Amino acid sequence: MTTHALGAAKLGPAERAAAISAMASTELQVLVVGGGVVGAGVALDAATRGLSVGLVEARDFASGTSSRSSKLIHGGLRYLEQFNFGLVREALTERALLMQRIAPHLIRPVSFLFPFNHYGWERAYIGAGVSIYDALGVARGQVRGLPLHRQLTRRHALRLAPALRKSALTGALIYWDAQVDDARYVVDLLRTAAGYGALVASRTQVTGFLREGERVTGVRAVDLETGAGLEIRAQQVVNATGVWTDAIQAMVGGRGSINVRASKGVHLVVPRDRIQSSTGIILRTAVSVLFVIPWGRHWIIGTTDTDWTLSKDHPAASRADIDYVLDQVNRVLAVPLTRDDVEGVYAGLRPLLAGESDTTSKLSREHTVAHPVPGLVMIAGGKYTTYRLMARDAVDAVAHGLDGKVASSCTDQIPLAGADGFQALWNSRQTIARSSGLHVARIEHLLRRYGGLTGELLEMIAADPSLGKPLAGAEDYLRVEAVYAVTHEGARHLEDVMTRRTHISIETWDRGLSAAQEVATLMTGPMKWRGRQVSKELDSYRARIEAERKSQEADTDTDADAIRLGAPEIVPVIVSEQGSSAANGSPARTAATATGAGAGIGGGGRPASAQGD
Ligand SMILES: Cc1cc2nc3c(=O)[nH]c(=O)nc-3n(C[C@H](O)[C@H](O)[C@H](O)COP(=O)(O)OP(=O)(O)OC[C@H]3O[C@@H](n4cnc5c(N)ncnc54)[C@H](O)[C@@H]3O)c2cc1C
Repeated sequence: MTTHALGAAKLGPAERAAAISAMASTELQVLVVGGGVVGAGVALDAATRGLSVGLVEARDFASGTSSRSSKLIHGGLRYLEQFNFGLVREALTERALLMQRIAPHLIRPVSFLFPFNHYGWERAYIGAGVSIYDALGVARGQVRGLPLHRQLTRRHALRLAPALRKSALTGALIYWDAQVDDARYVVDLLRTAAGYGALVASRTQVTGFLREGERVTGVRAVDLETGAGLEIRAQQVVNATGVWTDAIQAMVGGRGSINVRASKGVHLVVPRDRIQSSTGIILRTAVSVLFVIPWGRHWIIGTTDTDWTLSKDHPAASRADIDYVLDQVNRVLAVPLTRDDVEGVYAGLRPLLAGESDTTSKLSREHTVAHPVPGLVMIAGGKYTTYRLMARDAVDAVAHGLDGKVASSCTDQIPLAGADGFQALWNSRQTIARSSGLHVARIEHLLRRYGGLTGELLEMIAADPSLGKPLAGAEDYLRVEAVYAVTHEGARHLEDVMTRRTHISIETWDRGLSAAQEVATLMTGPMKWRGRQVSKELDSYRARIEAERKSQEADTDTDADAIRLGAPEIVPVIVSEQGSSAANGSPARTAATATGAGAGIGGGGRPASAQGD
C-alpha cells in the first residue's frame, strides 16, 4: 500500500488489486461487508485500534444510501418534538466533532429559514424547540462556525428569501446546521482507513460465509471485475450493508436478529437562480419536513418518505414523487417551480429498523448492533450524522469476539484525509491561485472537495497543464478531477466519476451526457482501458440516464422500477434465484433482469415512519 501525505492512501487500480490479493492470502481480524458510510467508519475505527481490517463493497463506494441522502449533518430538529433529547444531543456532539476536527474541509454551515403560518403560538413553540437545539449544540462544544438562531419578522424573512410568497408566512426564524458531500466523505473515510492499513476493494461482492460449525470464519466473495471467486478468512465479520442487511443475514441461515425495511426518499436538484434566497428553507409537511438546501450553484429539494419493497439496487423516482416535492415547495414560492426547472433527481433508501428479537442488544433508538452467530456482528439503522458512533459500537462488539485486549475507539481524535492543513491552505488560497495560475474560485472549489490534499491535484496540473482546464459540458469541474478520481479515489467506471466523485449527473441539464465522452477519455489511461471499453462505458451511462428519465415519467413505483432496471449495469452484481443481489444460493449474473426482493406496490406506497434523515 502506498501512503501519501497526511496518512491518505491511494485507492487506485493497483492498490485495489493488491488489497484483494492480500485479503485472500491472510486471516484478518475484521472483515467489513459494505462500503457505505457505516462500513467505511467501521474499517477506520478497527484499523485505528490496531486491528487488521479488510472491507469489500459490491458496487462503487457509497453507491448505496450513502450518496443519496439530504447531505445534512444535523441533530434532527423533529426528534425534539418526540422529546428524544438524548438522540439530538448525541447527533449534535457528532456535528461539532465532524465540523471542527474530523472533516472541516467537507462539512460546512448551512442556515435554514423556518417560515411560520400562524401568529403567536407557532413562534413561541418552534422558537422554544430551536432554543433547546441551539443550547444542546453549544453544550456539546458547538460554538465555532454556527451562529445561534434568530427570530425574524415577515419583512426581514422576505428580505432573506424574496422567493417566498408574502401570504405564505406570518414571520420566521433562522437557524444553523451543517452539510456534507456524502459520497466524497465516504471516500475520504476509506482513504484514511487505508492509510492506517485497512485493505479495501470495491466491486467485490460477498456471496456466502465460510463456517466452522456455527461459527463464521470468513466470507466467499467474487471480484466482479474479473469474475474470480475468493475466500477471505476473518476472525470477525461485520455486516454493514444498510438496506441489504437482511440478505446478508439470510446467508447465515436466516436467524433474524435485525430486520431492516427500506423507505424511499427522493430529492430534486434545481438551479440556484430559480429560487431567490440567501438561506436554505425548511417546511413542515403532513408527514415530515421538506428541505430546500443550497448546493453550490443549485438547490437540493426533498424529501419524500414512502415504503419501498422493489429492487434495492436502483430505487427509482416516479412522476408521483417528483410532483409531491414540487407541490410541497410550491406552497410557499411566489413563482412556482415546474418539472422544466428540474435539472437532476436522485432517490435513496433509508435503512429503518423494523423489529428486533431477544438477541439484539439495543444500544440506542437510532441504531442496533447484534451478534447472531459467533464471528458475525451486524450493525444497522442510524443515520449519516452518527455513523462514527455506530462504527464504535460495532467494533466494541467485534472486540468481545477477539482474543486479547482491544484498544478503545479513538476516531474522535482522527482527522480524515484532507482535514489536516485545510485551514492554512484556505487562508492562502490567493497565493496558491497566483502560483498555480488557476483562478481563486477554482482553488476554493478544489479546497472544498480535497482539503489538504489539493496539492496532489495541483502537482498533476503542473505536470500536464491541460488537466487544469474545465470539463466541457460540466464547467464547474476540472479535467484533473476525473483522473484523480481513478488514481486516488477508487473510481473504476464512468458512472463512479459522473455520479459520486463529482455530481455532474445531477448538476447539469443533460445529466452529464455531453461531458461523458471527455471524462471517459481521461479515465482511459489510468484505468488502462482497451478495445471497446470506452464505448461500453458510454453506452452504459447513456442507457442509465435514459432509463432514469423515462422512469421519472412513470406514475407508479412498480412501473418506474421496471423501467429503471431495463438499463444493464456496467458491472452486474450477482443475483440469486430469489432476486436479491446479496443473497446466497446459486449465483447468476442476471442483474439486468433482477426483479427486486419483494412484490411491488403502486402509487408511491404508504408513508413510512421518518427515521433515517
Ligand atoms: C433520502 C434520504 C435522506 C437522508 N438524509 C440524511 C441526512 O440528511 N443526514 C443524515 O444524518 N442521514 C440521512 N440519511 C440517512 C443516511 O443516509 C443513512 O443512514 C446512511 O447513509 C446509511 O449508510 P450505510 O453504510 O448503512 O448504508 P449504505 O450506504 O447503503 O451502504 C451499504 C453498502 O453495502 C453494500 N453491499 C450490499 N450487499 C453487499 C454484498 N453482498 N457484498 C458487499 N457489499 C454489499 C451496498 O452496495 C452498499 O454500498 C438519509 C437517508 C435517505 C434515504
